[in-house]
Amino acid sequence: PLVLGIETSCDETGVGIVRGHTLLADAVASSVDEHARFGGVVPEVASRAHLEAMVPTIERACETAGVALTDLDAISVTNGPGLAGALLVGVAAAKALALGLGKPLYGVNHLASHVAVDQLEHGALPEPCVAMLVSGGHSSLLRVTDVTGVGDGTPEGAGVVSMGATIDDAAGEAFDKVARVLGLPFPGGPHIDKAAREGNQVAIDFPRGLTSRRDLERHRFDYSFSGLKTAVARWVEARERSGEPVPVADVAASFQEAVCDVLVRKALDAASSEGIEDLLIGGGVAANSRLRHLAEERAASLGIRVRVPRPGLCTDNGAMVAALGAEMVARDRVPSSLDLPADSSLPVTDVLAG
Ligand code: ATP
Ligand code: MG
Ligand code: FE
Repeated sequence: PLVLGIETSCDETGVGIVRGHTLLADAVASSVDEHARFGGVVPEVASRAHLEAMVPTIERACETAGVALTDLDAISVTNGPGLAGALLVGVAAAKALALGLGKPLYGVNHLASHVAVDQLEHGALPEPCVAMLVSGGHSSLLRVTDVTGVGDGTPEGAGVVSMGATIDDAAGEAFDKVARVLGLPFPGGPHIDKAAREGNQVAIDFPRGLTSRRDLERHRFDYSFSGLKTAVARWVEARERSGEPVPVADVAASFQEAVCDVLVRKALDAASSEGIEDLLIGGGVAANSRLRHLAEERAASLGIRVRVPRPGLCTDNGAMVAALGAEMVARDRVPSSLDLPADSSLPVTDVLAG
């Protein structure tokens, strides 16, 4: 199926067009520069930027893909989770297209889209798989048997089941906060990744959250990054007080190692515990070079296959929404109603809106 997907959950206005598993266009307009001086995304600014960028981005995607709107088989759109006002712009645009073209509308979960996008690069998703979703606002381990979320229709047989999640900060949030402490620009993930390449990852022994024997009893597949963030801030403050220079590269590398070590360890444990041989990694933090390397290295010795989309598909884009929409069509899922609401706090396991 030929599907156009719209993404506006945060600061990227993304419009993607796919035919089945083939990516035809991935147009993204970002308002990130407008937020940088505030050190975080400003919701009102993001909503306004989506309004301005929506129509030109749709036009650009169609042009790149070489398709007319009337060729489309379906429209999919992120209806949550994300910033309420930002989501509304995408949902309204998608409804207008679906209604005007007389084509089905699929309201899909942004987080499941971060997982589904991998099929554009590596083909049909391995199901069952364990998906590690690591992004700016979420960090979860999911057991995925059907990425459209339906599964066999029973509660236990749901297509996407949460095995664990962060109990405080998301991994991406930790990257962004630590970058700020180190005086690196927002969003900090890519800057830490870059700085860390010049640093020593064993220079500082930062804490690994929820890995003690006691914590593992209750939180085997959960994450915690807020203690790590505080430990880095304390370490940097102590350095500054002593008048010594802060070794930015070493702090970045040691912090990144602490995050990636725990992420990978628990993801592989989750896969092994379920007897699942495929680990899929998605979300903005999946663009991290150390995370990708460590996952591949450790998985290989366990006989687990790792799939991570290329970095450009890990961060927010419209192609991921189109990819999940195409799966909805291919698997004959029931389209969403034209009353589709935006849901800023949509749970990760709610994949398709009714
Ligand atoms: P969510 O998907 O939870 O709604 P989001 O959509 O805002 O959050 P994404 O676009 O999926 O987040 O990811 C953005 C996050 O990824 C930011 O926190 C950013 O710092 C982080 N990130 C991007 N590239 C890298 C990298 N190379 N290393 C580490 N983190 C990165
Ligand atoms: Mg963004
Ligand atoms: Fe995202």
